[in-house]
Parts: sequence; C-alpha cells; structure tokens
Amino acid sequence: MSAVLDSKVEEFQNLIGGEPRHAAARKTFDDVNPADTREIVARFQASGPADARAAVEAAAAAFDGWRKTPISRRAKILQGAADFLEANAEKIAAELTREEGKAIALAKDEVLRSAQTLRFYAIEGQSFSGETFPNDDADLLVYSLREPLGVVSAITPWNFPISIPARKIAPALITGNTVVFKPSSDAPLTGYRLTEAFVRAGIPKGVLNFITGSPADVGAEITQNPVVRAISFTGSTAAGEHIHRSAPLTTRTQMELGGKNPLIVMDDADLDLAVDLAIKGGLSLAGQACTGTSRLIVVSSVKDLFTQKLVAKIAAMKDIGPLATKKQLETVLSYIEIGKKEAKLLCGGERLAGEKYQHGYFVTPALFDGVRQDMRIAREEIFGPVLALIEASGYEDAIAKANDTEYGLSAAIATRSQKTMHRFAQDIQSGTVKINRTTTGNLVNAPFGGLKRSSTSTFRESGRTGLEFYTQVKTVYQGV
Ligand code: NAD
Repeated sequence: MSAVLDSKVEEFQNLIGGEPRHAAARKTFDDVNPADTREIVARFQASGPADARAAVEAAAAAFDGWRKTPISRRAKILQGAADFLEANAEKIAAELTREEGKAIALAKDEVLRSAQTLRFYAIEGQSFSGETFPNDDADLLVYSLREPLGVVSAITPWNFPISIPARKIAPALITGNTVVFKPSSDAPLTGYRLTEAFVRAGIPKGVLNFITGSPADVGAEITQNPVVRAISFTGSTAAGEHIHRSAPLTTRTQMELGGKNPLIVMDDADLDLAVDLAIKGGLSLAGQACTGTSRLIVVSSVKDLFTQKLVAKIAAMKDIGPLATKKQLETVLSYIEIGKKEAKLLCGGERLAGEKYQHGYFVTPALFDGVRQDMRIAREEIFGPVLALIEASGYEDAIAKANDTEYGLSAAIATRSQKTMHRFAQDIQSGTVKINRTTTGNLVNAPFGGLKRSSTSTFRESGRTGLEFYTQVKTVYQGV
C-alpha cells in the first residue's frame, strides 16, 4: 500500500466502557511498517488526558460487577479469547509482522503463545487462593483471603506486542481486576486484536479498556491517578523508573525493564552450540528482545576459534529483519559509530540499501571485538543487532565481567562442566539463568523478571507467581 492509497488505511478507536471512542481532540497517529515505511498499516487515536481519565473511570465503574462475577465465568472469557487468537492466528501474525517487522513464523508463535498464556491463567487462576492457619481455639477459623486490587494499568512495549500484554491482562482479569491497557504506539494493532479477542469472548463493558496515545498525553492519568491500584509496566529502565517514582503510595508497581545480557563461553563449551546461542540469542528479532544477548564473554583459549566461527555464521545470515522504528534505527546506528571509536568492528553495522531494503530500517548485524568493561557498548542497552566480544581469563573473570553491569535480566553460559553449570546458577546476578540455551525465551508457566535495574523485583510475572501481583491479602479471624 502506498501513500496514494492512504484513504484506505483503517482507523481504530479506543475501547472505553465497552464502546469505541475517538480521542476527544479527534487526532490520530499512523502505525507504520518498518520494513517499508511507505505503508501505513493502521491509524490510531492520539488520545489526551481526558480520554485516559475516561478509561480509568470506566474500569473503576466495572470493578464491583467483575469482582463478583463467578470465577468459572471469568475463566470462560479467557478461554474464549484464546479460541479467538488461535482461530485468527494467521491474520494477527501477518498484522504483527507488518507493524513491527518480526519474521512471520515468530509472529505466529507469539500469537499462539499468548493464547497459551490465557488458557494457563484460566485454569491456574481458579485454584489461586489464601491459606488456613491452625490455632489453639477449636471455635476459631483463621484464614487469608486473596482479593483483587481494583483498576490496573497494563503498559507495554512494541517488541512483543501481544505476548507481554497477554501475560499482564490475563492474570489481572482472572483474579477480578479491571484493566486499562495502553499498548506501544509503535505496534498498537496487535494489542487491539487482543482486546478484540476478549470482546468477542463476551467480556463485560468497562472490564478491559484499550487506549492509545503518547506517554506525555495519557501517561500521568493512567499511572498517577490513585484510582489505579497497580501498574504493570514493561519497557525501558528510564520510563519505568519515572513511572515507579511518580506513582501514588497506594499504587503497586511491577516494572520489567532493560537488560545487557551476557553469554559466557567457557573453554569446554561446544563451540558450534555457543555460536548458535550467540546468533539466535543476540540477533533474532534484530537484537530487539529484552532478554537478547548483547555481550559475548569468551574465555581466552577458545576466543579466536569462537570468533572465527561466529563471523562466518554472521556473514552467511539471510533474512535480516528490520529495526522496529526510526528511533531504533538512529539509536543503533549511533551506537555502531560509538563502537567504531571504542573497539574494533569485525563485521556488519551497515544500513542495507537496494530496492528491497531502502524504504525500511535494515541494518546488518555488527560484531565488535576488543570490548572492555568501561566502554559504552559494553555498558548501555543498545537494543539492536550489535554484539560485543569481551575476553575473560577464566570462570572467575567471566562471572565478574558478566555481573559488572547495572542490569540483571537474563544470562547464559555455554559449558560441558556440571560443576560450572551449578556454580553459574548461584554466582550470576540475573533473574533468568540459562545453561546451554539462549538468553532469550521463557515459559508461560514459570516466573519471569529481572534483578538489579532490570526490574523493581517486587513481583514476578508469568506462572503462578504472576497472579500474586494482582491480589491483596486479608487475614480473617472467624469465631463461632
Ligand atoms: P518504552 O519505555 O519507550 O515504552 C514502553 C511503554 O511505556 C510504551 O507503551 C510507552 O508508550 C509507555 N510509556 C513510556 N513512558 C511512559 C510514561 N511516562 N507513562 C506512561 N507510559 C509510558 O520502551 P519501548 O521502546 O517500547 O521498549 C523497549 C524497551 O523495553 C527496552 O528497554 C527493553 O529492554 C524493554 N523490555 C523489557 C522487557 C522485560 O520483560 N524486562 C521485555 C520487553 C522489552
């Protein structure tokens, strides 16, 4: 689709109190295809504070009815939404690819995984409750109750535009909360489809509200209004820290933030596997996964061979996906320039030209050698296809270098030694620990979250622990 066919671009509205709503100011913004910026995928509402307030109020009004809705009915709505995602997986995946740039197979996996998340919480949420406590009085029943918080804001990034919203919205809803969902303006259509899935499954009006707009316009209303009892946010450390600090005292926050994830390659590693882990962990999604590998910490004795194999594999790479936004492109290119001054560029780092690429945000994977701990490319989150090779003298040096970062989201090691595996799990300062696996990827049924400045580390997402964030505990003493 070109600018000539602009009038055919579909406009999507907010969903507030179960009704489609234009932004009060009647302004919209474009959702653009990063592989070909001539294509406008869709148009969304450039909402303002009044629209955001209306979404919070609609969620507040729907809370009492939803918390009293039988849990089996709530579960049925989650299952129904999962059915919708599965039935429409191809279409939603194609849209995801168009608005965000992810390969179609990965997009489809993400849609199906989101359905799996909904089904997981539909079941798990039904057995999530408090405890009973033994005591000396035979006529006294003491137990804890878990109850929903109220209105919850779910604020999400563009890189996993359906799986991250699903893992926030599903546990919030099954436990009886109502939700204001604000997707990233860089991939809102996929979030809209998730909302649509719940609507099709019969979610009552106001229980899930969808609003788009810039953080400057809608951010304060959905994060600083005390009616919002919890904020689940995934995004950059800077934005998360700001939201966390400005939230009211009574608003719970769950911030899942940036990373600078290392892969340690030991001298006893299967080097072909290690190269594979570096490529898949660091370069799939054009390096734009929060858990993506960005530092390769390699023990000296195998560094030359590992580097040789890695360069050969990178050179042979085809189907490099685009960076998701113009801002991403500019950031990545600027870090490549910084890297060229600080270290040695072994390969890549160029913007792709030619008819297939020139209208999109394509950059070839860059590999830097001779990277030291004090360099910016070793310390700052780049969030692109840029890998930094760092030499280590042995295990202790590798761990010290891996931990020498403000982040702690995911970390991996390639080794054949059981002893090293065991020690690594204990020594590494990271919320996700991978052994002979990529830093990327996590299960829907296991806890997920970072340490250090990668998270507030208050509550974990995913799995059964993902339900805790959305409930508060009351202790009841019932005498007879
Ligand atoms: P971002 O911080 O720019 O935006 C994330 C979301 O927050 C967007 O919806 C944005 O509009 C919104 N937002 C930003 N400031 C806000 C404010 N003041 N009030 C309300 N909303 C606000 O991040 P991004 O560029 O979309 O995503 C990339 C970042 O996300 C990277 O840093 C990456 O590491 C991180 N990320 C982390 C995880 C994780 O689980 N830890 C997962 C994916 C991405």
